[in-house]
This record gives sequence, structure tokens and C-alpha cells, in this order.
Amino acid sequence: MKDLKKKILQNLNDSLDKKELDLLEKAFDFAEKSHSNQQRQSGELFINHPLRVALTVSQMKLGLNAVIAGLLHDTAEDCQVPLTKIRSEFNEEVAFLVQGLTKVNQIKYKSQQEDTIAEKENFRNMILALAKDLRIIIIKLADRLDNMKTLWSLSSKKQRKKSLETLDILAPLAYRLGMTDIASQLEDLAFPYVFPEEYKLTRKILGKRREEQKEYLNNLVPLTKKKLEENNLNPKEIKFRTKHLYSVWRKLQKEEMDIKRVYDLVAMRIIMKDVEECYAALGVIHQMWKPVPGRFKDYIALPKPNGYQSLHTTVFAEDGRIVETQIRTLKMDEEAEWGIAAHWLYSSAKKTKGYKKRKSFCPPKNFYWINQLREWQKTFYQSEDFLNALKVDFFKDRIFVLTPKGDIIDLPDGATPIDFAYQIHTDIGNQAIRALVNRKLVSLDYNLQSGEIVEIIIKKGKKPSSSWLGFVKMNETKKKIQDVLKGKKLV
Ligand code: MN
Repeated sequence: MKDLKKKILQNLNDSLDKKELDLLEKAFDFAEKSHSNQQRQSGELFINHPLRVALTVSQMKLGLNAVIAGLLHDTAEDCQVPLTKIRSEFNEEVAFLVQGLTKVNQIKYKSQQEDTIAEKENFRNMILALAKDLRIIIIKLADRLDNMKTLWSLSSKKQRKKSLETLDILAPLAYRLGMTDIASQLEDLAFPYVFPEEYKLTRKILGKRREEQKEYLNNLVPLTKKKLEENNLNPKEIKFRTKHLYSVWRKLQKEEMDIKRVYDLVAMRIIMKDVEECYAALGVIHQMWKPVPGRFKDYIALPKPNGYQSLHTTVFAEDGRIVETQIRTLKMDEEAEWGIAAHWLYSSAKKTKGYKKRKSFCPPKNFYWINQLREWQKTFYQSEDFLNALKVDFFKDRIFVLTPKGDIIDLPDGATPIDFAYQIHTDIGNQAIRALVNRKLVSLDYNLQSGEIVEIIIKKGKKPSSSWLGFVKMNETKKKIQDVLKGKKLV
């Protein structure tokens, strides 16, 4: 425990003044006292969990309040510490973050393997809408990462449920934020629980190939460097990219489970000064080793739709072994990660039904926060602007509510239980008499909020009231009500 504290302090130290340091110390004490009598299912002291979450958050340089929220993230839910207390002991922002996390944790996922792409996308959007601030999502990801690492201590039913949710909802969210490292870790932790047979098979097929390949590539580095230098080229860096297990499995499925056809288990990545040098380096590589026909791709001249740029070539290297090589500038290398995030937003907006009409879903400004996040992580620079950029506002005009069965209904902001009822079924709308929100009775003109569970009580044969037209939000609802009132449709 002392170790964890020390590491968190190390990660933050330079950026904190005396007052902030005191606040952090206070948060350590507060969390420790709140969880003093609790143990994790794994048998360890509970406090280790929030400390590990806070440590992960501190590595991401999201500011002091996010780290404190990481320390306190389970206090409101598990120890019934009132939010007002967190607000008065710490500050408004910490309370806001803890509250957001509690809300996100209260959503009951229905997540099932047979869920469609659109259903999964709806879950992810609901989390974003509920969180309102990306720091909440990021703390949630850190929380899940730690829970996944101690998943062995839970029942097999819970293991599967958590893992499925991780694979379907949280890892894709991490990718969307450009946090590819956390995303791959989450996928590999969940993989054995969701697809145990496939996991075993992948490991068996893979054997020691990745390690071997890495060792082999390691031996190629001095040779590559020497050849480039002989041609007056100075690579800024030569590094490796190792494919994580879950990704290997996905690739295997495409390659008829033939591992020999997965050439990029480990790829060599050469970083050059500028575009000109990238092409020059490619020439040197092709002189050294013959390229595998049909495997060369020039994403510099012809970038991928998401803007990704790099030269990819696969060559027969020493001893005739096949090696994938990626050549790019430093800027391209840095952009590659959040380019994936940009692509994700782009393609999901296009594919998911119901978003067709919502063109504003991914205007360039939505990439702003990802860009800001990355910039800021790089420079350790904190500003008001950055924190504002973390506010999620592209769902400000949508809400996501749940049916009692856990299905998500996507509605415009300001929608009422009557709008909800008509989205379920016209008959439910027509015959609605009462509405329950989180099991409590509300008026039919109540403004629904994201994350609420809505239940409609009907009376057979009842007709809609014309007074509903005065408060329903959606034109679609109005039209349906008017149709019945005009006698076009009989119930
Ligand atoms: Mn937790």
C-alpha cells in the first residue's frame, strides 16, 4: 500500500503545490478510512483497489481531481459516503466525477453475446451520455482494468458477464479514446473467459512464435541500421509492434487459422525524419531483402480513409523469413493511434442504424478532445481549455433510457414517458395510463434522464388523451396520437 502511494506521488509530484499535496494526502486518508473494514473478494484489503485505480489515472496525467476521484470512486457506492460530504471535504469537481462514476456503475448491462452491433453501440453511447466528461470514462476504464486483473476471485457467472461487457463495451470505448494500450490489455484479460476454447487454441497455435519473432527481429535491427546509414539515412528509431493475443485470434479467423499467414505477429517499425527519407529507406529495405509480391502498401501517397499514413512492406529477410516492416515519420507514428479513434467514430456513425439522420454525430470538433488529450499527455501541460475539452457534449441533445428488461431506447432530450411508450409500440403508447421511473411513479409529462429505467402501465382499450399533444417531445409521437384522435387507427 505504501508503495502504491509512493508511486502516485511520484507521478504527480512535479505538478502539485503544497495545498494540492495536502488535498491528495487527505484523499488517501479519506479512502482508507471509508474502506477500513472491507476486503476484496480476492482476500486483500479493499483500499489497494482504489489505490491501483488512482495510480493508473495518475499515469495518464489527467490532473489532481481525477486522481482523487479514482481514490474515492467506490466510496459513494460501497460505503454510502454522501456526495455532499465529498463536495465539502474536497471540491465540486471531485464530487461531480465521483457522482458520474456512480451513475455509470449503476447501469445494468444486459450485454449478451448475440447483441447486434447497433445494440452494443447504444450501450457505449449511453455510457458516454451518462458520463458527460471523458475523465469519468477513463477512470471507469482504469477501474475495470484492475477488476479484470483480479477476476479469478469471482464466480464463473460473474467472470463471464464482466468479461463480455469488457469485450463488447469498454475495450471499444478505450479504442475510441485512442487508449490502445488499455484496450488491448482489457481484450486479452477478457478473452479466456468469453471464448475459453478459442483462447486455448490461439495460444496453442501461437506457441512461442511471438517471442521467437521478436528475438529474430532484434537481430535484424543493427543490420538494418547499418545499411540505412551506409546510404546516408539516419533512422530516428527502430522499434517493434507486437500483436496482442485477442487480435491474433481475430486475424487467424481471417486467415483460415493458419498462423504462417499472420505475418505481422511482430512488425518492425522504422521512424524516419521526413517523407522523402521514408521512401529512401524503403528503397534500401527492398535492396536488402526481396519484397513479398502484392504486400507493399503506400499509405503515404494514398492514406487510409481515417488519415492513417505509413509505408507497409513485407519482405523475405535473413534466412528467408517473412517480416512486415512499417516505415513512417514521427508525426505519422503519433497520429496513428488517435487516427484509429477518428476512424472508429467515422465508421460507427455510418454503420449504426439510427445515426443516419444524425449527421452532426462526428463533426471535426469531436476529434478535438482526443487530439487535446493526446497533446496534453505528451506535454504534461494542464489548462482550463483542456479540461473543458473533456466535457462530452455531442450527446447533449440525446438521452438513453432503459426498459425494465434492459433494452436501451435512444430519445431526444426532453422526451417524456409517452414518447418512450410510443417508441416501444404504438399500442403501448395509445393505452398508457401511468409511468414508473426507477420504480417510482412519475407524471406522464416527466422529463426523462439518461440511465433511467422506464416502465409503462397500460389499460386495455384506453385511448390517448389530446392533452398529451401539449407536452410530448417527438413529432413522431404527435403524429401517432393525432392519428388515433382523428379515428384513423382504432386501438
Ligand atoms: Mn472499483
